Amino acid sequence: MVYDCLILGGGPAGLSAAVQCGALGLRALLIGNPSGQNPLGRAERVENYLGLPGLTGGELLDAFQRHAAERGVQTVTGRAIAAMAYGDIFALTVGSEVYQGESVILATGVARGRVFPGEARLLGRGVSYCAVCDGMLYRGREVVVVGLAQDAAEEAAFLAGLGCQVTFLAPERPADLSPAIPYKKAQRLEILGEDRVTAVGTEGGQIPCQGVFLLREAVAPAALFPGLALEGGYLRVDRDLATSLPGVYACGDCTGPPLQIAKAVGEGQRAAHSVKNWLERQRNSKK
Ligand SMILES: Cc1cc2nc3c(=O)[nH]c(=O)nc-3n(C[C@H](O)[C@H](O)[C@H](O)COP(=O)(O)OP(=O)(O)OC[C@H]3O[C@@H](n4cnc5c(N)ncnc54)[C@H](O)[C@@H]3O)c2cc1C
Repeated sequence: MVYDCLILGGGPAGLSAAVQCGALGLRALLIGNPSGQNPLGRAERVENYLGLPGLTGGELLDAFQRHAAERGVQTVTGRAIAAMAYGDIFALTVGSEVYQGESVILATGVARGRVFPGEARLLGRGVSYCAVCDGMLYRGREVVVVGLAQDAAEEAAFLAGLGCQVTFLAPERPADLSPAIPYKKAQRLEILGEDRVTAVGTEGGQIPCQGVFLLREAVAPAALFPGLALEGGYLRVDRDLATSLPGVYACGDCTGPPLQIAKAVGEGQRAAHSVKNWLERQRNSKK
């Protein structure tokens, strides 16, 4: 099935966009991490959301999610690890599933993870964010998995199953990591290599490898969609919340300050309207 819109991120912006897409008659799919990973859930008390002062962040998030569920918002729980555009269709990979849509709304919040030295320079030359997408390239070779996401042990097992020689690095050993996969405690990392990855440097020494899989909870939108224009580290959008890629819209914290719930909810609503207008223009132009 090809959805009218794929919405990435289950925080206030994504939920607002999804509810509004439903109200506008669009078939939308919301893809989001488990709600326990939403930053709003950590807010002790929210005093500045209009009409609902004094709720905890968790209570407010529950109310947003309940509203979305009551409006029949279709949701998939998981981390989008890769995106592709072919012709007029966008495809987002979540685990081993691929979802297709005619447009995308990015509502991914702000990526709070550190970027490791060497990561940006060697992206696509040994550095990958997606075991399912790139694993086959490293069959029979040495790879390092940097496990910063809950499903990282599962992805490491997937790579080992393909025949990669996997070393797993993380601040703590995950309980579900296969005993057959060597684990090393590491916090300070550096990706090494001139033209391609040759090793990962850690506080305990270098680990030679040809590939390094950086598995974080959130993949920055610009890494999912290379070519997305940024401004001051945030996604560049116009007043309609259109990004630099036709058919890709963005809302909430990922478009920049103020990093607040009310702004995220408002932009989510606006992005849904913009998507509706864009789809109409696209479809009319094909008649
Ligand atoms: C401790 C704390 C207290 C706060 N207190 C307040 C307050 O009192 N008032 C206020 O207005 N604001 C407050 N904020 C800010 C507020 O939480 C944010 O502005 C708001 O949540 C932004 O919503 P968003 O939907 O844009 O992004 P987020 O809420 O960050 O949601 C984005 C979601 O997308 C998910 N995601 C990202 N990448 C992917 C991917 N590749 N696949 C799947 N899912 C993905 C993320 O995991 C996240 O769940 C607080 C924030 C924190 C951390």
